[in-house]
Amino acid sequence: MADAALPRAEALAEVLADVRRYLGWHRDVAGEELHASMDGALGAIAAAMSVEVTVEGSSNPPVVVEYAEVALQPVSAPAAAPARLKAAALPAAAPARSRVAEPSRPSPGPAVAPDSEEAPRLEEVRRALGDCKRCKLCSGRKNIVFGVGNPKARLVFVGEGPGAEEDNQGIPFVGAAGQLLTKMIAAMGYTRDEVYICNVVKCRPPGNRNPEPDEIEACQPFLEAQLNAIRPSVIVTLGKFAAQTLLRTDTPITRLRGQWREYVGIPLMPTFHPAYLLRNPAEKKPAWTDLQAVMARFPKAAS
Ligand code: URA
Repeated sequence: MADAALPRAEALAEVLADVRRYLGWHRDVAGEELHASMDGALGAIAAAMSVEVTVEGSSNPPVVVEYAEVALQPVSAPAAAPARLKAAALPAAAPARSRVAEPSRPSPGPAVAPDSEEAPRLEEVRRALGDCKRCKLCSGRKNIVFGVGNPKARLVFVGEGPGAEEDNQGIPFVGAAGQLLTKMIAAMGYTRDEVYICNVVKCRPPGNRNPEPDEIEACQPFLEAQLNAIRPSVIVTLGKFAAQTLLRTDTPITRLRGQWREYVGIPLMPTFHPAYLLRNPAEKKPAWTDLQAVMARFPKAAS
C-alpha cells in the first residue's frame, strides 16, 4: 500500500477484526441483514470511519471502505474498578438435606456480602461447594457444573443452569446454546478462556426444567461467592433467572434487558439467554445491542 493512503496498521487490523466479529455473529442469523446501525447510547459514540486502501504499484485509484465503528470510545469513562467486595459467606460443609424450603424468591434484602476482608478464592469456593447435596438437584446430576474460564476475568457471563451436555461434561454452555454463547463472546472480541462463565444453579434441572426457588436459594451463595472471588468489571446475565437472582427482582427479562444495573457495585447488563435467541432469532438484534453497550462501556483493553 502506498504510504500516503496507508491507514494506521492497527486501525486497519481493528476494522478487519470488527467486520469479522460482525460476520461471525450474523452468519448465525439466517437471512438477516448485517446491521451496523446503532441507537440509544451507542449512537452517541458511533463514529463513521473510512479506510482508503491502495495497492502499491497499481494504477487503480484507491478504494475507500466505509466502516461504522461502534466502540471507538467508551460512552463515559470506564467505571472505576468496583470497590473491593468483601468475602461472601459460604455455607459450611454440605449439611444433610433435611427439608427444602420453598421461598417465593431467594432471600430478600440487598445483595451485599457479609463482613470479612478477604474474599475466598475461586478454588476455595469450589472446595466449599464440595459434593453438594444442598438441594434436590443433586439426585439427578452427573456432574456439578461449577464454572469455567479466567478466574481474574473482567467479564463474567451468568446463565441459568446446566443442560444435558453440560451435565455430561461438567462444563457450562457447551451444548447448542453454548455454541451460540461462544459466538457472542467471540463477537465481543473475547475467547471463552478470557471470560468466566457460570450458572445460577450448578446442577442440571431434570428435563431442562426451570430451576425452582429452593434450588436457586441453595446455590445462590456459591454464585455470589464466585463473583466475589473474581470481582469482574462487568457482569452479563443471560436470561431471566440470572438477572432476577442477582438483582433480587421479579421484573420480567423483557423489561430488564438492555438496562444497566448493578450487582454489589459491579455494572450488570441483563440480556436474553442464548437458548431463547436460538428459538427467537429476531431477538438477536436487541441482544447484540446489549453486548455492544457492554463493549462500549468496557472496551477490552480498558476492562
Ligand atoms: N443454559 C444455561 O443456562 N447454562 C448452561 O450451562 C447451558 C445452557
